[in-house]
Amino acid sequence: MSFVNSDGMLISDKVILRRFNAIEHGDLHGVQALVVHQTDAPTAQHTFNGYLAKGSGAHFLIDKNGFVYQTASLKKRCYHVGKLIRSKCLAIDKKTCDSAQMARIQTLSWTAQIKALDAHERAKSYPERYPVNSDSIGIELVGKHLDTSRYESVTAAQNQSLQWLVNELYVHFNLSSGDVYRHPQISYKNPGEASSAVWE
Ligand SMILES: [Zn+2]
Repeated sequence: MSFVNSDGMLISDKVILRRFNAIEHGDLHGVQALVVHQTDAPTAQHTFNGYLAKGSGAHFLIDKNGFVYQTASLKKRCYHVGKLIRSKCLAIDKKTCDSAQMARIQTLSWTAQIKALDAHERAKSYPERYPVNSDSIGIELVGKHLDTSRYESVTAAQNQSLQWLVNELYVHFNLSSGDVYRHPQISYKNPGEASSAVWE
């Protein structure tokens, strides 16, 4: 078992604490979901080097050998989701969308459409919409993208650690498997990212 200390760090002999203040952007007031990513970098060190500069990042990083690093406090927001979220109602059940609004949005050009969809979705609350930076924890798995649709396979050791980590976070934040998303599900990303991640 693990626990979350007052600094928002997950205390367990399975977690190596390596916090980067530069990727923390204000307070995270509640955790409703987990988002699984791949780094598009060949090693953990490449990602750590990037985290020294202010910018995007995630709360955890799982190396290819299964080592789990916590890279940001669970009480702080990280920029891991991206600027534009997809529409959950369109992806899951079109009938639950506001059809008049959707009809209006779908007359727009693609660029205008994804911006309008994002604004429309952000007016909803989770779980009616996909998670955003202000209500989710990001978990990165070390892995390089191979081409426009594929990433390196997640290793067995990574999946084993991911399962352990996700189960701990379910308990600490009262979540279930329906609250875990692959990054490309929720924003416009390489569809292969985290496609071979398995957490249940
Ligand atoms: Zn990602």
